[in-house]
Amino acid sequence: MPQTTDFAITGGGIVGLATALDLQSRHPTARITLLEKEPRPALHQTGRNSGVIHAGVYYAPGSLKARFCALGVQASHDFCAEHGIPTQNCGKLIVATNEAELTRMATLESRARANGIKIERLSAKEAQTLEPNISSTGALLSPTTGIVDFGLVAQKMAEIFTSRGGDILLNTRVTGGNEAPQSVTLHTGQGTLSAGKAVFCAGLHADRLARSFGADIAFRIIPFRGDYFAIKNQPDDLVQHLIYPVPDPERPFLGVHLTRKMNGGFTVGPSAVLAGAREGYGKFNLNAADLASALTYPGFWKLLAKNAASAVDELSASLLKSLYLKKVQKYCPRITLDDLAPYKSGVRAQAVAENGKIIDDFLFAQTRHSLHVCNAPSPAATSAIPIGRYIADQLLDAG
Ligand SMILES: Cc1cc2nc3c(=O)[nH]c(=O)nc-3n(C[C@H](O)[C@H](O)[C@H](O)COP(=O)(O)OP(=O)(O)OC[C@H]3O[C@@H](n4cnc5c(N)ncnc54)[C@H](O)[C@@H]3O)c2cc1C
Repeated sequence: MPQTTDFAITGGGIVGLATALDLQSRHPTARITLLEKEPRPALHQTGRNSGVIHAGVYYAPGSLKARFCALGVQASHDFCAEHGIPTQNCGKLIVATNEAELTRMATLESRARANGIKIERLSAKEAQTLEPNISSTGALLSPTTGIVDFGLVAQKMAEIFTSRGGDILLNTRVTGGNEAPQSVTLHTGQGTLSAGKAVFCAGLHADRLARSFGADIAFRIIPFRGDYFAIKNQPDDLVQHLIYPVPDPERPFLGVHLTRKMNGGFTVGPSAVLAGAREGYGKFNLNAADLASALTYPGFWKLLAKNAASAVDELSASLLKSLYLKKVQKYCPRITLDDLAPYKSGVRAQAVAENGKIIDDFLFAQTRHSLHVCNAPSPAATSAIPIGRYIADQLLDAG
């Protein structure tokens, strides 16, 4: 454990690693230290997601999400091509299954166009020709959506960072610290580190670290577990594209989608239920402090009150596989209960404001020598490289 460093980065997910690489490329001789509490990088959100390189269809024009996602698609493909990480540009169909969804689909199409994203509207017949196993009343085709294993991307980033002289301290949890006039002190389970500047990319623990370093924040991380199933017994050509439902604007997440995987096969998911632990991947994993943090937060109850129907629907589908199946059968009727096999879950770190609103955009907070990544939900894996660049800009601009 070094006693001093120029830059300390907490969190070895894709955002922390992309930030480390960006700082290193600007300051090749600086000492840069990344601290990760787990024995390996990318064990949480980065290693447990849908693996979709999002094109940028959904995000509010002008938002950081829209900006970084558009840049992130190209940056992710370039990084993967340069370092031999396989990607597939399989494209995505967003399928409507009734009149109401067709209307919402038109709104989504306008949004994609406002974001400068390639999008094509398909009739039911055209969608059926493209995907014979999918039933719809119409669809949007996003040809620039792709897939990758973000865990592999993060591992490669870690390799490059260490090969260029960066330090990664594994099994090192940052427990707190404080800002001094000229530096930041980080307390860890292994000792104390003094850094010129610090960046915190702690995902599911972002609020705790931000608060303990004195950042002025008005949100809490609420962990939403997303369960997936692997699809078995179906042909390899079940679908050629990723298949997404039209998102319901009343619900915070994109809905259960059918995703092609880089190593073959398909998954469906993720659902969205309150997780009993911030890093609890099983249905019955509980952590008293994590659960209390959600249940004592007025923002959580306000969110629940506004979304009671969808919360009940998600919870029921999480407990009853037959209800989960219905969400998939809406657009892929040939999938049956026997086809759904267990698959690893993920937990989303979602910042929720005190008034119960989901904080939709990426959010950052700065203190004198530190920058905290407060909200980096999907598409932050797609957007990690431009997010890293933005963080480095902010940190270095601050002196
Ligand atoms: C179910 C699901 C599906 C998703 N699908 C997609 C998708 O298809 N496409 C997409 O672009 N995005 C997707 N996302 C979002 C994406 O995975 C995340 O936005 C991204 O991985 C965030 O990266 P991160 O580095 O901020 O967080 P993480 O990957 O969670 O990394 C945070 C790291 O910080 C470490 N840490 C935390 N506290 C401490 C501490 N005190 N000391 C030391 N280390 C600490 C953790 O151990 C962890 O390794 C999905 C997310 C989920 C959960």
